[in-house]
Amino acid sequence: MQVVYSSAHRSHDVTHETFLGQPTPANEVAERAEIIRSSLEADGGFTFAGPTDHGEAPITAVHDPGLVRFLEGAWGQAERERIDRPYLVADTYPTFRMFEGMSEEFVVGQPAPTSVAGGLGWWGLDTSNPIVKGTYGAARAAVDVALTAADLVLGGETVAYGLCRPPGHHAARSMAGGYCFFNNAAIAAEAIVRATGERVAILDVDYHHGNGTQQIFWRRGDVFYASIHADPARQYPFFLGYGNERGEGDGQGENLNLPQPAGLSDEGYLAALDRALGAIVDRPGSIIVVSLGFDTYGRDPIGDFALTTPVYHEVGRRVAATGRRLVILQEGGYYRPALGDNTVAWLRGAEGR
Ligand SMILES: [Zn+2]
Repeated sequence: MQVVYSSAHRSHDVTHETFLGQPTPANEVAERAEIIRSSLEADGGFTFAGPTDHGEAPITAVHDPGLVRFLEGAWGQAERERIDRPYLVADTYPTFRMFEGMSEEFVVGQPAPTSVAGGLGWWGLDTSNPIVKGTYGAARAAVDVALTAADLVLGGETVAYGLCRPPGHHAARSMAGGYCFFNNAAIAAEAIVRATGERVAILDVDYHHGNGTQQIFWRRGDVFYASIHADPARQYPFFLGYGNERGEGDGQGENLNLPQPAGLSDEGYLAALDRALGAIVDRPGSIIVVSLGFDTYGRDPIGDFALTTPVYHEVGRRVAATGRRLVILQEGGYYRPALGDNTVAWLRGAEGR
């Protein structure tokens, strides 16, 4: 299997995130991608390639240019404002309750703040998203990794894996959040739609709901989004991910959320997977973009499912058994001792070996 990897992710060298207002050791660290890379190298069944530069246009095809400009300039702006911190996170966010009773037209017309502290909240979802000097470069490289993996499949490969870091599925059109800056999977899916004119399915098997991917394609009839994730009533991202969110307009019926209980077993997971895959193969198209997360693993520090390493091989096998070509993009997974084995198991399953 072809793997796309870039060492540029290392410049997003976060050490801390913020949890319930307190600094805490970061989960989404550079070591994650290095563990996966070395495990795939040790397996011997994977061929590595670097990403090619795709420029900004595929990003602004799904993201607000204002978000791109903010992320590009945030660190420099903090330096100009003489904010001397090891990383940047917001402490004030524009919750919808602030605008209660005001028209949507009025609210969306509010100007973006000019200070970096205001911008972090304006363009952000939560405090788990520290920005450091190298964050923008790493996020741009992750997008190129995803687009290069998509190119491989568009060029005839049946499957390709993009080792994206930082991940992407919590990033919405105008919002970073949840360790994510640009939505790698959404950008790849949009590029595939534009290249092929076909419908594309996104299968999100990260532990968390991909609120950003759902938001980006909410009104789209040409991209089907299916996600198996922790019930948002108890878990991040809390405010989206319920089963009754089916899309609107042209996207009506093209969003499938399968929220799951704590302690979810391998068997329970596979039952939900079969539902998602059944919905995908009911629709036309030849390519699935997979948002691949291993925070579903039983020992993950931020998840509460009970999945084991062998089930990942079976999940990969069943996804490949749809007969669709696969663009597999890395999202979460934070129990580092098992991350390499879990990734190898999934990808070997997807290759049928
Ligand atoms: Zn996750």
